[in-house]
Amino acid sequence: MFAILGCFLSLFLMAHPVYASTFKTPVIVIDPGHGGIDGGTQNADGTVLEKDLNLIIAKKLADQLKKHGLTVELTREKDEDVTKYAPHDRGWGRHKRDLFGRVEFARQKQATIMISLHGNHGTNKSRGAVVFYQLSSPESYLLASELQTRLNRLTQSFHSPEKGKEFYIIRKPEIPSVLVEYGYLSNPNEFANLMDEKYQQKMVETLKEGILHFMIFYHLPR
Ligand SMILES: [Zn+2]
Repeated sequence: MFAILGCFLSLFLMAHPVYASTFKTPVIVIDPGHGGIDGGTQNADGTVLEKDLNLIIAKKLADQLKKHGLTVELTREKDEDVTKYAPHDRGWGRHKRDLFGRVEFARQKQATIMISLHGNHGTNKSRGAVVFYQLSSPESYLLASELQTRLNRLTQSFHSPEKGKEFYIIRKPEIPSVLVEYGYLSNPNEFANLMDEKYQQKMVETLKEGILHFMIFYHLPR
């Protein structure tokens, strides 16, 4: 379906050279949560840290999106924090510099949208994915809805997108941003799925489809 829509988009741009000349390739910033000394949450026996799973899924998602002609930037490509993009002279703690750094990275890259990836923690029965959106951004809500609908189908559970006011990462930027909690590491069944390569691929396809659908139907080029 996206191929057909892509054709329509190309035809539209060819027929409207004014638009074509000003059309900027969208930049998708993917932010694998945590990193470095901040491991995030972990599975029940503590053998896998969230930061590592976030990075695995982020890299796979980036590869998929690039195949569709989008520019993709990762806030980190290895096991490190993102404090290097934040000022060091304001007396901020490491955690605040890390979060600021992620937002600053997205600004510097002139991101069209930003997606933060996280694993969740709850009881051993908590399951499913939850997408948080920016209260002040209708586009953020639309992106969150596109992702949530598809993630519900994948995880066979029902969640609605949630307001993300407590997350610095999606509270500040002018860029439509969402935070995706893709599943519960505390649930042994869900964790086993998340470690499975085939499931990871399905997760990445799911996120990719939601992003592409949003970009085609709801994102107005600026
Ligand atoms: Zn996290």
